[in-house]
Amino acid sequence: MTLPPGAPLAADGRSQRPPSASDSSRPAFPDQPGFQGGSEISDPPLLSALTTFRVGGPARRFVIARTEADLIAAVRAADARGEPVLLVGGGSNLLVADDGFPGLVVLVALRGFAAQPDGDGLGAVASAGEPWDDFVVWTLAHGRTGAEALSGIPGTVGAAPVQNIGAYGAEAADVIASVRVFDRQRDEVRTFTAADCGFGYRTSLFKQTPDRYVVLSVGCRFQPGPLSAPIAYSELAHYLGVEAGQQVRATFVRSAVLTIRGTKGMLPDPGDPDTWSAGSFFKNPVLPSAQAVRLPAAAPRWAQSDGTVKVSAAWLIEQAGFSKGYGAGPARLSSRHVLALTNRGTATAADLLALAAAVRDGVRSAYGVTLEPEPVLVGCRLPD
Ligand SMILES: Cc1cc2nc3c(=O)[nH]c(=O)nc-3n(C[C@H](O)[C@H](O)[C@H](O)COP(=O)(O)OP(=O)(O)OC[C@H]3O[C@@H](n4cnc5c(N)ncnc54)[C@H](O)[C@@H]3O)c2cc1C
Repeated sequence: MTLPPGAPLAADGRSQRPPSASDSSRPAFPDQPGFQGGSEISDPPLLSALTTFRVGGPARRFVIARTEADLIAAVRAADARGEPVLLVGGGSNLLVADDGFPGLVVLVALRGFAAQPDGDGLGAVASAGEPWDDFVVWTLAHGRTGAEALSGIPGTVGAAPVQNIGAYGAEAADVIASVRVFDRQRDEVRTFTAADCGFGYRTSLFKQTPDRYVVLSVGCRFQPGPLSAPIAYSELAHYLGVEAGQQVRATFVRSAVLTIRGTKGMLPDPGDPDTWSAGSFFKNPVLPSAQAVRLPAAAPRWAQSDGTVKVSAAWLIEQAGFSKGYGAGPARLSSRHVLALTNRGTATAADLLALAAAVRDGVRSAYGVTLEPEPVLVGCRLPD
């Protein structure tokens, strides 16, 4: 699919949109008056103001990019200076060091989405800074299905292909048709088809090649409504009262997913410290079958097409002795979901990393499985 070049997309129907789950996920800071798109902010913020973990020290320099031209110009100029760049969307998958970021932080704030005719007219394209969940709402309101199980995921459209966001049996790769990027190495705008994006479980070419690609917009391809994609997750099917593989109204799937996510603290809520997190902190480990078979039979697992086995990280964590709410200080596991590390108010990045290392080590000594973090760690890493 060829995406429209350069110009910002029309914000089709935005004023009619109902509030979406992600509206509260974007930090309040960028929309405060006084911040001009594209111009450098003289008093850079703390990264804690830009991330859902609410941790992270100061940015050395800071720009809000509201147009593609501003975004490309800011990144190009930093590259020419040899200065590191950190792209921030909703800040919902970032754990930034307490020392902050020693370079340019660019808040990606390009907005707009539009229908994109492609034969049967079920394509759509969204700018990188649109909240992902606003896009999902828009697709459903415009008769497009396929993204409903991805409802309520915080963050932006531009970050969605980076880790190939996924939930409830769906992933962004199911609907993404193309990704338009600024390639910092080649200094040009390029469009990747989905097949070239290297999508995998919580990964992509863009995640595997850090510091090269700036996502500008994402083109998607949907199915005609009103029915959802086949339900591919047993918990969701159970909630909806159907068998896995069945289809129901896509709007029912969205409602069900939002309800389930809410019970787990997986919807952003500024008043709820269980959501001051990056969602799941650990990926489900994908193991060779010979290793998976040695785990207790009760461990939930999913056979993969390449013969490996994906195992529930939440089960391993809980069975290794880390229950909901685990932790004594300001960094604790969520009181509703052991996979989420949370900041109870005054946690630092170091506190969260220490908790993450304790969980990783506990699971490793109980089951010989090393959990890998899902969020992007900036300027910090899990202690060995
Ligand atoms: C409560 C909660 C629930 C969550 N649930 C889920 C879930 O169900 N499934 C799931 O997959 N994730 C989940 N997440 C994680 C997170 O929401 C997603 O990973 C999301 O896609 C991150 O988007 P963001 O805009 O906040 O990215 P950020 O956190 O701002 O950035 C993440 C990475 O993407 C890069 N990036 C951002 N914008 C661009 C761009 N335009 N071009 C290139 N690189 C860019 C950043 O540099 C960084 O490396 C959850 C998080 C929270 C807080």
